[in-house]
Amino acid sequence: MPEIPKVYNPSEIEPLWARRWVDERLFVADAGSDRPMFSLVIPPPNVTGSLHMGHMLEHTEIDIIIRWKRMQGFNTLWLPGTDHAGIATQMVVEQQLAKQGLDRRTIGREAFEKKVWEWKEQSGDTIKKQMIRLGASCDWSRERFTLDAGLSRAVREVFVRLYEKGLIYRGKYIVNWCPRCQTAISDLEVVDEEHAGNLYHIRYPVLPAGPVRKPSAPVPTEQSDNPIPTSEYVVVATTRPETMLGDTAVAVNPADERYKKFHGRMARLPLMDRDIPFITDELADPAFGTGVVKVTPAHDANDFQAGLRHNLPQIDVMDERGRMNENAGRFAGLDRFEARRRILAELEAQGLLEKIEPYTHALGRCQRCKTIVEPRLSTQWFVKVKPLADAAVRAVEKGRTRFVPENWTKIYFDWMRNIRDWCISRQLWWGHRIPAWYCQSCSEVIVARETPNQCSHCGHSKLEQDSDVLDTWFSSALWPFSTLGWPDLTPDLKLFYPTSLMITGFDILFFWVARMMMMGLEFMGDVPFRVVYIHSLVRDAEKQKMSKTRGNVIDPLEVTDRYGTDAVRFTLAIMAAPGTDIALSEDQMKSYRSFANKIWNAARFLSMSQEKAGLTDREQSKGDKEQRYDGSYRPVAVASGQLSLEDRWIFSRLSRIAREMAKALEAFRFHEASYIIYHFFWHEFCDWYLELKKLTLEPGGELSRDAIGPAWDNFCLAFDVALRLLHPTMPFITEELWQRLAERKTSIALAPFPAYDAALVDDAAEREMSLLQEIIVNIRNMRAEIRVDAKRKIAVELYAASENLGQLSAHHRQAIERLANLSSLTLVSSPLSSEGGTLRSLPEFTLSIPSTDAAAPGALRERLLKEQQKLSRELETVVGRLANEQFLSKAPAKVVDSLRQRKGELTVQYSKVLETLEKLGETRSHRDTE
Ligand SMILES: [Zn+2]
Ligand SMILES: [Zn+2]
Repeated sequence: MPEIPKVYNPSEIEPLWARRWVDERLFVADAGSDRPMFSLVIPPPNVTGSLHMGHMLEHTEIDIIIRWKRMQGFNTLWLPGTDHAGIATQMVVEQQLAKQGLDRRTIGREAFEKKVWEWKEQSGDTIKKQMIRLGASCDWSRERFTLDAGLSRAVREVFVRLYEKGLIYRGKYIVNWCPRCQTAISDLEVVDEEHAGNLYHIRYPVLPAGPVRKPSAPVPTEQSDNPIPTSEYVVVATTRPETMLGDTAVAVNPADERYKKFHGRMARLPLMDRDIPFITDELADPAFGTGVVKVTPAHDANDFQAGLRHNLPQIDVMDERGRMNENAGRFAGLDRFEARRRILAELEAQGLLEKIEPYTHALGRCQRCKTIVEPRLSTQWFVKVKPLADAAVRAVEKGRTRFVPENWTKIYFDWMRNIRDWCISRQLWWGHRIPAWYCQSCSEVIVARETPNQCSHCGHSKLEQDSDVLDTWFSSALWPFSTLGWPDLTPDLKLFYPTSLMITGFDILFFWVARMMMMGLEFMGDVPFRVVYIHSLVRDAEKQKMSKTRGNVIDPLEVTDRYGTDAVRFTLAIMAAPGTDIALSEDQMKSYRSFANKIWNAARFLSMSQEKAGLTDREQSKGDKEQRYDGSYRPVAVASGQLSLEDRWIFSRLSRIAREMAKALEAFRFHEASYIIYHFFWHEFCDWYLELKKLTLEPGGELSRDAIGPAWDNFCLAFDVALRLLHPTMPFITEELWQRLAERKTSIALAPFPAYDAALVDDAAEREMSLLQEIIVNIRNMRAEIRVDAKRKIAVELYAASENLGQLSAHHRQAIERLANLSSLTLVSSPLSSEGGTLRSLPEFTLSIPSTDAAAPGALRERLLKEQQKLSRELETVVGRLANEQFLSKAPAKVVDSLRQRKGELTVQYSKVLETLEKLGETRSHRDTE
């Protein structure tokens, strides 16, 4: 058996195991297995990305569940992969080209796509490497990429089927347009920010009543000198005055009495000299502003709908870069914000700008490049989502998919019930190109699985493919089945779909989970996952969002280098209470690194003592042979069928812990499961069990030669079981120690997760052990209170109130003496039979430290009196300052706060000293009465 190194050094052991687990294909799922299965697909990270703390939390939680299920004997699949991330990837490669003075347009689409693939080959596996390093137990043999041949085929198949079903259409629509990225973006990719802008109130002259004229649309090329035909005008208010160039109506509410007189009349659009009609529409809210609104169907989503209702022309006045186009008359060519300045100046000059009012409103920015989004009319492809969403709502109503925490169900319903058609085309080059071809002869649109070579309508061979690509969420919506081989009915698809679980962040609930639900139900006839667990957010220690600008980002790779992956994983897990954000700090990682260290030292003790006892061969011959793969573990009776108290106790505890952990993990209560094993390992196994074992197993200890072997076996088994319980959360250290403590043929990752065993539960042992602990802890506390030097052995008398406790204490006298550092423990027959000294009475027992053994009471009293004086003086000063009004009014709040805190501390210390002094007095008077 290799010796366990003195120092726990995670950076030495972790990379080796990470590599070995993958090389030995431990996590490859078996499509032919008849064991129960547990499957999960990764929410595919962007191929451009590298791991951040959010990923690490997500992957830690997934890995805990997957490892746990695998150890329980499930045929587990964690399918990994990445998303091609349209905009993000295109931007990365465009930036690279820009450095070489190149532009994607100059090199052309084909060459550009080649460049992106080259980039992907070179840099696209950063996340994969990081995941392997952090121990994610994925099945890398099934790794997928959203632009793989197989997945691309699935995308085409889905597009064509939806198109044939009438659920995909092409149409003109207002979309969110990013003038920088020059593509449509989804509602979810627009970040609304509060913006302190202005509301511009503009006068639109009203034409005299007369026969209704058709709206005219002349485009004046220079400044108009047309006189305003009337002194009558209405006032409209807008935050985007440049869009007025595209106005094709003004609207008033049909019920608004004030404007009844304008019904059926025309207004003159300033600057453009276009006459536009008054329409009556609910779009105008009599309570908002003047009750009159301008209608710009090509530049606003609500106006667009109103335009359809009233059959208004749609005049697009901007180009794809956010510059005014030829429809903007003399403003053509200006950037939208420059146009705004010019327009306001001209309106002002013409006396048409009534007022400018400061106005705070939500302003949408492109999530990726922060450019202000422009609502823009364009021809795009859409999915008609209503029927798909209805099915996805019904599935959750029926409980076919369950959300944890439960409150996400309502949020999901709200969103699904108000869903709008999904714009799926993106004006990018990187992605799945839309499988639609336009006949250059008869303008037939051909949507097909295979590239057509002639027009299905006129037979013409000149066809041009749509230049747009699909939104990346279109391909990731198929991820749970496209990754398993769909549209073919592969063994993987048959076995692993629907997946058992999806663990993801709330920020992609709609991007993704909702769309996976719709597509899964439509194409597989079943939900994509049985349970969706929404994990928390990782924030900094002050609960602030981590961001580069704040500089509070904790890099997972940096901290895992510093504290070990196991410690960071454990920190995340123990803080991951469902529904609450995680306030992460390095201090926590430091303390869980100490936890790992504690376990390391326990293993080291175990291995070294075994060696000393000459028992290593014995363990070596065991190992896997005796592993029982049903998760059971039974201790060996040591002698004459009798187990020692500590063995009865520890196996009883292990059995309960196994049950509690399973219960916590079943409910995704990672924090509870982690806390349970942490507390057990540190405060039961290391603090008590190990200490008691030291006593019985040391050379010359109380055990006979025959009993030592089995006693060791139980010790090793208990440690083994504890390591297995900890393995899903701390995979590396548990594997390393498990391998070092015995000859193994496999990995701990494949060893059975300990199961609850009712036969091991021993209430009597737990009760006895807790009494023993209580005696020892009370003696330790008494020693601390009267300040007995830690190294000094003292004599203690114990009066047991029951015969049982008397026997128990007598039986474990040696343990009590050793663990409480006593020279002797004397059992006495009366609670007051001591010679005096310090006394502590509890219902089951009374403890007494004779005065001769206490730290010379006289000297102690003297020291305490001095301390009392010192505390009293400081307390006086603090109280005085806090009573000083002048000081309070001037001092910074921080100073006052810390003074108040100091006062609290001093008060507590003072009363403790007083209490101890009183006790000393009590001790003396007790002796006096004797
Ligand atoms: Zn953008
Ligand atoms: Zn044709």
